[in-house]
Amino acid sequence: MISKKMEELGKHSSVIRDMFEYGNKRRAEIGKENVYDFSLGNPSIPSPQAVKDTMLKLLNEKDPVSLHGYTSAPGDYGVRSTIASSIRDNYGIDARPERIYMTCGAAASLTVSLHALCNPGDEVIALAPFFPEYRVFVEKAGAALVMVPCREPDFQIDFAALEPAVTAKTKAVIINSPNNPTGAVYSEETIRTLADLLNRKQKEFGTEIYLLTDEPYRELAFGGIEVPYVPCYYDNTLVCYSYSKSLSLPGERIGYIFVAPGVKDGGDVFAAVCGAGRALGFVCAPSMLQYTVGACNGMTSDVAAYERNRDILYGALTEIGYTITPPDGAFYLFVKALEPDAGAFSERAKKHELLLVPSDSFGYPGYVRIAYCVTEQMIRDSIPAFRALYEEYAGERE
Ligand code: PLP
Repeated sequence: MISKKMEELGKHSSVIRDMFEYGNKRRAEIGKENVYDFSLGNPSIPSPQAVKDTMLKLLNEKDPVSLHGYTSAPGDYGVRSTIASSIRDNYGIDARPERIYMTCGAAASLTVSLHALCNPGDEVIALAPFFPEYRVFVEKAGAALVMVPCREPDFQIDFAALEPAVTAKTKAVIINSPNNPTGAVYSEETIRTLADLLNRKQKEFGTEIYLLTDEPYRELAFGGIEVPYVPCYYDNTLVCYSYSKSLSLPGERIGYIFVAPGVKDGGDVFAAVCGAGRALGFVCAPSMLQYTVGACNGMTSDVAAYERNRDILYGALTEIGYTITPPDGAFYLFVKALEPDAGAFSERAKKHELLLVPSDSFGYPGYVRIAYCVTEQMIRDSIPAFRALYEEYAGERE
């Protein structure tokens, strides 16, 4: 018999992917300009020119055997040194290449880290709403996912709810800021309070509680808002970084895990990361991409374009009457559904060719997620459809 669990996962793809596939079907039927597809977090802004130039240079000038050959299992030492030195320069943290493990994006960073840390019976806390794949990654690592809702309306951490959820079984807490799907950026006060709480609980239970900070959106923060660097506040931190969004390279699958210098027995934790990478087959991330991000480390795509999209869409939707917490980063709006069942609301939105992802799979019912990493034109064109949808519900209430 094959693995029923894996068969189940394969047969039930994510709601986000289902919506995207539906969008493909509608685009073929009625033309792409008539479908307002806000389903997928696929960057709409191209990579910086430097990415293309670097790749061409690598292809033209680097010895092809070494360019396309295996690097060492945790990644090329030179690339890891560049990343470590940029962490030291930017955040004053004593980062070393020996604690950086190159991966295939944040998804691999998370799943490798969770496998490195978790034993059967452990619990991992995720703050709802959260990226739906967390459940898959945590359960595959043999742990149980514990959901703790964030506080409304600002979607910062609800410490009154978190406190009792942290127990002697808690192995890790996953945070994601700027956040998918709410766009919230955790303030310095939030991170400090979280660090205090976890330090207190570690002492109380005599355990290690790791903070996994999932950071594909670190550079997508608007209006000059600071995104606190978590290892500056909490020792037992593993940074799960990805270049998918910052350099618009999601299909190229590249990122890294950084085991912060303050992590207790960090050498052993890093060894466990290497072991998990080995066990999962995530050794030696794509070499050409490693060299590319090494050369382009610190650059970003034109993220100001996302900020413009946010301003246009947030402004228009709130003016129509939708309830939305103003987002400070990432490229999502988290919008209150106009009826309690977000799935039913999203089905009605489809009749207006609006593809919005219901929030249930994010562990937080009653909302839809709008990924505004689309063209500005599509945003402008979609606004009458949002208005018509709103008026449809308003008409029924009268
Ligand atoms: N974590 C969050 C919060 C995400 O939104 C995503 C992708 O959208 C991922 C992880 C996975 O990122 P990657 O493509 O780098 O694997």
